Amino acid sequence: MDYRTVLTTCTYCGCGCNFFLEVLDGKAIGTIPCKTSPVNEGKLCIKGWNVHEFIHNEKRLKRPLLRKNGRLEEVSWDEALDYTAARLKEIKEKSGPDSIGFLTSAKVTNEENYILQKFARAGVNTNNVDHCARL
Ligand code: SF4
Repeated sequence: MDYRTVLTTCTYCGCGCNFFLEVLDGKAIGTIPCKTSPVNEGKLCIKGWNVHEFIHNEKRLKRPLLRKNGRLEEVSWDEALDYTAARLKEIKEKSGPDSIGFLTSAKVTNEENYILQKFARAGVNTNNVDHCARL
């Protein structure tokens, strides 16, 4: 039996609370708030307390889905990315860059949010970028 705790940051919102994930035999089984974190000082909201539950949830999306003939089908990352790149290019050429908008998320890192807005502004030439924290 291998038990350990891993210090990490909550992925549910932008507050950045710290906690220890309890890991038993490679599986996350619990959450312990970090008392020394200056952000949350040993406290967590209900989402943070239960954050370990989604990691191994069987309903979690792990592969891209593409709608084909009205039904969502699992596809490879290559197919999903090729399709998305082609559609973005087609829409941009037909309707202009400001016909495209990007919505990013508090559930990813600052670096990932930075990359998406950079792609929107420098790659697609639009400032249509927003974030779920404003919704
Ligand atoms: S524990 Fe709650 S407040 Fe803290 S980062 Fe997670 S979701 Fe946000």
